[in-house]
Amino acid sequence: MAKSALVVDITPLKRQPGKQSRFELSVPPPDGVVLGTAEVRATQLHLDLQLEGAGEEIIAQGLITVDWIGPCRRCLEDRDGSSNIRLREVFQTRPIEGETYLLAENEVDLEPMIREAVLLNLPIAPLCSEDCAGPDPSRFPTTVAVEPEPDVESPGDPRWAALSEITFDN
Ligand SMILES: [Zn+2]
Repeated sequence: MAKSALVVDITPLKRQPGKQSRFELSVPPPDGVVLGTAEVRATQLHLDLQLEGAGEEIIAQGLITVDWIGPCRRCLEDRDGSSNIRLREVFQTRPIEGETYLLAENEVDLEPMIREAVLLNLPIAPLCSEDCAGPDPSRFPTTVAVEPEPDVESPGDPRWAALSEITFDN
């Protein structure tokens, strides 16, 4: 089986501490991996990361741009968009659960890090446009000032707090 494109050989970084290596890649989500939720799924990943050896660790930082597709929460038409995710993560030979990622002898697998970042940053309920009338304009008024918008968000989940950091490229 071919090695995942998301597995990076870090041998050169281990030889020269402080050396940085740029990792740029544009790929669809790995085979068999659904990145996202049942509703909103990642369709393409654009990675622009800097990998750096720091002692026994590898630090990955940079930008992941995720293209996604999902139904508009009002009219249910599919819409697409993209989210930018800035990250800085540490890879260690003995990773701390939920904090750092596994550093194998000569490589790091970026997939678990990407998977987590994408899941935390995809929109839960996209809108095709701010003034989408939806299937039923009387229930989903477009003039928010006249009547409060119906609460169609899912209940608060602290994991989605990172949503406030998302920027959309429209
Ligand atoms: Zn819509």
